[in-house]
Amino acid sequence: MDKNCIFCKIVNKEIETEFLFESENLVVFKDINPQAPVHILIVPKQHIRSINDIEKKDSEILAEMLFTAKKIALDHNINKTGYKLQYNVEKGGGQEIFHLHMHLIGGFR
Ligand code: 5GP
Ligand code: ZN
Repeated sequence: MDKNCIFCKIVNKEIETEFLFESENLVVFKDINPQAPVHILIVPKQHIRSINDIEKKDSEILAEMLFTAKKIALDHNINKTGYKLQYNVEKGGGQEIFHLHMHLIGGFR
């Protein structure tokens, strides 16, 4: 937990956000500024700064993020039409929130 981190506050329910899914390790919620008809964030509860900071011990969480993306895509019926899974890494990679998250972006026509 990083007390200045927006996503830690969302995880800890200090900022009210509707979760589409929650497990021991993750929360899933809609992006506040969607870039496509479906734009969902898959976020580990643990404060990991970016992909640059992942460690072997985080393997289970990282795998769960992928399996959760697959399930959420199916739930939103975009599994066949297609979607993107994106990690922005550091400033030059477009990362604005320095708490690891995967973007699930789809619903394109
Ligand atoms: P990044 O650029 O760091 O990969 O993506 C951060 C994403 O978080 C952005 O797409 C932004 O719209 C979203 N975001 C930022 N603050 C909030 C918030 O308070 N609530 C939600 N639901 N999304 C947020
Ligand atoms: Zn955080």
